[in-house]
Amino acid sequence: MTYNTEQRTSLLSFLTENPDKTFSAKEIAVALEGKNISKSSVYRNLAELEAEQKIKRVTKAGSKESFYQFYDNSECKNHIHLSCTKCGKIFHLESEQTEKLVSEVEQADGFEISRAETTLYGVCKDCGIKN
Ligand SMILES: [Zn+2]
Ligand SMILES: [Zn+2]
Repeated sequence: MTYNTEQRTSLLSFLTENPDKTFSAKEIAVALEGKNISKSSVYRNLAELEAEQKIKRVTKAGSKESFYQFYDNSECKNHIHLSCTKCGKIFHLESEQTEKLVSEVEQADGFEISRAETTLYGVCKDCGIKN
């Protein structure tokens, strides 16, 4: 049991240390080589962490593989997210900007937008410049 917890901790801290990057399960397994984590337990832990909303699973255009990114549930419930349809990265819109964006809709329509569940899709700066 403690063994599993250890694997989980190193997996989560790896993603926490790279909050702005997305990784495939394969990449994570490679990065954690030497920490005694088998590929199957990487997959299992990723599924668990995703279910607990500690990480987010994202997809990239033209790829069938899933990618994972750290997701801070306590911070993230206060802002909406931007998702790049090309690289799959998730960006955290600052709470202040979130409020600017949603407050008009909320006031006009009396519709309360749940920040944590709202994602806007588009193309990020990096992907836009390259094309
Ligand atoms: Zn966030
Ligand atoms: Zn992008």
